[in-house]
Amino acid sequence: MKNIVIFGAPGSGKGTQSDRLIAKYGLGHISTGDVLRSEIKNGTELGKTAKAYIDKGQLIPDELMIDILASVYDSFGKDHKGVIFDGFPRTIPQAEALKQMLADRGHCVAAMIELDVPEDELMKRLILRGQESGRTDDNEETIKKRLNVYHSQTAPLIEWYKKEGIHHHINGLGELERITKDITSEVDKL
Ligand code: AMP
Repeated sequence: MKNIVIFGAPGSGKGTQSDRLIAKYGLGHISTGDVLRSEIKNGTELGKTAKAYIDKGQLIPDELMIDILASVYDSFGKDHKGVIFDGFPRTIPQAEALKQMLADRGHCVAAMIELDVPEDELMKRLILRGQESGRTDDNEETIKKRLNVYHSQTAPLIEWYKKEGIHHHINGLGELERITKDITSEVDKL
């Protein structure tokens, strides 16, 4: 079972590369951002709470995220080939909760793949995505806040996963095809 955390700042290409890994390895996909956007679209209580944080470029509180994680994971059943966690974990408590949730099921995270992209490129990509997709949090002011949140709350996970011995660094700048190849050469070894 290849459970993989795809990791990186907003705009680092997590979603794009997840789609490619899913197609190649038949993995499931948990994008917590997508889960929250669908809750917002459906007008649920969770969606209303989430919207307030997302619009401000802040993270949804850990307890809420951790609560939804197990049920989304279990929706893939017991015999899946593995799941890509995209946008989760974003804090150390979330990483600890993920580890525990998987251990409770006799599973684990096999690899954390960090997509490393310079800040000016992230900003360019996100502004463009905002124009193309209409995502309301892809505007310059909110992007800056999200990048600050990434540096202060999420980036410490790189050290955390290094200590777990499953961190893999990938240069996320350049040809899509080359980035995918670098990732799959790590995933093939799992
Ligand atoms: P994303 O689509 O992954 O960029 O997520 C969009 C927004 O959803 C983030 O800026 C957060 O406000 C929220 N979000 C997504 N995943 C998480 C998470 N694991 N923890 C807290 N907030 C999250």
